[in-house]
Amino acid sequence: MQAEITSTEQGEPPAGRPLEPLKAFKSAGRGYWHDVPAADWNDWRWQMKHRIVTVEQLQKFLPTLTPEELAGAQLANTKLALGITPYFFNLIDPADENCPVRRQVVPRIEETGTAPWELSDPCGEDSHSPVPGLVHRYPDRVLFLVTDRCASYCRYCTRSRLVSNASGYDFHPEYDKQIAYIAAHPEIRDVLLSGGDPLLLSDEKLENLLSRLRAIPHVEFLRIGTRIPIFMPQRITPALCAMLKQFHPLFMSIHVNHPRELTTEVREALGLLADAGIPLGNQSVLLKHVNDDVEVMKALVQKLLMCRVKPYYLYQCDLIAGSAHLRASVAKGLEIMEKLRGHTTGYAVPTYVIDAPGGGGKVPINPEYVLCRNAGRVLIRNFEGKVFEYPETADGKPCGRPATKIEDSELV
Ligand SMILES: *Cc1c(COP(=O)(O)O)cnc(C)c1O
Repeated sequence: MQAEITSTEQGEPPAGRPLEPLKAFKSAGRGYWHDVPAADWNDWRWQMKHRIVTVEQLQKFLPTLTPEELAGAQLANTKLALGITPYFFNLIDPADENCPVRRQVVPRIEETGTAPWELSDPCGEDSHSPVPGLVHRYPDRVLFLVTDRCASYCRYCTRSRLVSNASGYDFHPEYDKQIAYIAAHPEIRDVLLSGGDPLLLSDEKLENLLSRLRAIPHVEFLRIGTRIPIFMPQRITPALCAMLKQFHPLFMSIHVNHPRELTTEVREALGLLADAGIPLGNQSVLLKHVNDDVEVMKALVQKLLMCRVKPYYLYQCDLIAGSAHLRASVAKGLEIMEKLRGHTTGYAVPTYVIDAPGGGGKVPINPEYVLCRNAGRVLIRNFEGKVFEYPETADGKPCGRPATKIEDSELV
């Protein structure tokens, strides 16, 4: 279903060394929709209108649907709706039941099971919500939920309790109240628009919202969390970029999990955003059968740099109800981080975090590089496992203690 490698003027790697298959940029192609006029296909509203949202459509477009997927799709609309844009659907390999793209968006029956430690609000957002649609967990920044709709639905969504409104949460953001809260709290200097996907708003609505936020003097920094450049790159138009550009400093966090999602279409959309001066970061979720593999993750982070995107966070998958079949272990995450740091460009290495269950916020976790330390020195190891000693200099001078063995009792 995939077209052969195509090239665009933008961001083409230097000629010569061919890219390994995982890193090659390909078009998603048209697949089933090959005779749809280009003007329709490239129109994001056409993509939204023609999403795969019913079991019948899924069976029609994906004849290799398995019994587990069929049963999952039949129950999806009581939990988290089924929704896949035609563009993104074309990235699914119909011959591969474990296709990393398929795993992310095609429901499975395992979603309906819930382990005792799984939660519907794994990060305790509702208990940190001073007004509907606003999460104020950290001292200087807020999460502003703009909508409960997305272009496509990720099966491991941490906000599946409210997103798509399949389970009766009845989410109604109240922009007036959200904005009034921010205006009344001068400690808030950073507003993160998320949802649902903020880029589902029309340019006019989004412009209105961003203008109102920019009008608050203490709001220094704006960012948008969105997967739309990946699910529906057609949404990233020159008009959208020209509008967003008025609100700098404005950053954008996108969400890519597998290198195959970085197509020529996506690379072009990300290029438009980068050319509008929007710094781009990526947030991946560590997912079983998707990216719990060093080679896949390395190709992903390197390919992101080629799209001018800095890998920002790698999330340990939240304990969202019905996500056990997609969760990889922390041990696997640490193993991957260990094989990235030092082995590839520092810019390509994300921060691996666990969003603490119940609402503690993001906690960075790292392979152990500090072997031990005391008041006099720090013993570290590098990416090759070589050990080094660094004298501790509390007042600018090493404490001068002889470099004797560090006693167990001195370890911190
Ligand atoms: C992730 C998150 C943020 C942003 O955190 P950064 O580390 O600044 O990217 C803010 N608020 C909430 C509730 C979050 O979950």
